Amino acid sequence: ELQEQHQLMDLHRDAASFYFNCLKKRGNAGARYLAGREWSIETIKRFGLGYAPDQWDALCRYMSTKGYSNELLEKAGLAILSEKVAGNKRHYDRFRNRVMFPIFDIRGNVVAFGGRILTPEGTPKYLNSPETLLFNKRHLLYGLNIARTHLRQHTLILVEGYTDVITLHENGFQNAVATLGTSLTPEHAGLAEKTAKRVILCFDGDQAGEQAAQRSIRIFRNTEVEVKILTLPHKTDPDQYVKEKGAEAFEQLLQKAPTAVEYQISLIRRRHSLATVEGKVHFAREASDVLKQIKSMVEREAYAARVAEEIGVSKASFMEELQQGKRSFE
Ligand code: ATP
Ligand code: MN
Ligand code: MN
Ligand code: MN
Repeated sequence: ELQEQHQLMDLHRDAASFYFNCLKKRGNAGARYLAGREWSIETIKRFGLGYAPDQWDALCRYMSTKGYSNELLEKAGLAILSEKVAGNKRHYDRFRNRVMFPIFDIRGNVVAFGGRILTPEGTPKYLNSPETLLFNKRHLLYGLNIARTHLRQHTLILVEGYTDVITLHENGFQNAVATLGTSLTPEHAGLAEKTAKRVILCFDGDQAGEQAAQRSIRIFRNTEVEVKILTLPHKTDPDQYVKEKGAEAFEQLLQKAPTAVEYQISLIRRRHSLATVEGKVHFAREASDVLKQIKSMVEREAYAARVAEEIGVSKASFMEELQQGKRSFE
């Protein structure tokens, strides 16, 4: 198994250099696509981006000249065995006519690929390697091999996509990482905990992003990580935001990102009118459910004082609600 792991790593490294070289060919569609994303050559090299040509077996043919069998390519998830044609097994490339993003493990070995379609429409937009001996997406954060040595204020920025990581990186936020088309897992949270003290969640500004933030907050509760939430304007993601507004503006959003508790309370506040007694009661109850989750007594009391002030009751009576779950405002 160890030997196979080594073979697969060599194979991925060679495949990445094949895709990278395809990007250097004159007039190829991948390079044209990447020109539109406006990343520098240094960035493209740093992330080892490439292009999978629009052919059935370009990778298979190249790799066989390097001595790799189609069976090993299949094991790596880079080749697919086609229906037997007249008794012949044929392998073809999984990734065709896509921009290729090598996925690195924490030591910087290529262990998988993500491939993006070149057109604005079309599905799937991203195609990823399947899980293999090397690649388990539950355990891998894209960009962590770089981010872990480029923390800023002991902080990781967690985003949704490869492109977000790359654009943030290019703009000086080298501490950005992404999950890979899955929602955050406890294993991801554990990795983050080993690396940093704080994580700023910066998901896409849409319904899915908000839900992902809620889920992630819950998962991080089982860790010591301090979580903050950066909310982007509607329908933008970090990549678009930084390209449109610049690194300064993004830095401002990072600085004023609320803590997970503040964020959750503000969502609750949005749903209730504090102008009515009833609204205040419901707000207080739901807020106290959030505050009950806080492990630190000092922190819990500090937030309780704020909520109490906001609804105009004494801190003592709000603390009672908090401790006993009693309906002390009715
Ligand atoms: P782009 O800016 O190129 O449109 P994005 O990173 O903004 O890409 P999203 O649609 O926001 O793309 O998706 C975020 C991440 O989710 C992607 O980077 C990818 O890892 C994953 N993803 C998206 N679509 C798919 C898919 N069809 N299959 C698997 N993973 C996907
Ligand atoms: Mn999205
Ligand atoms: Mn995007
Ligand atoms: Mn996005």
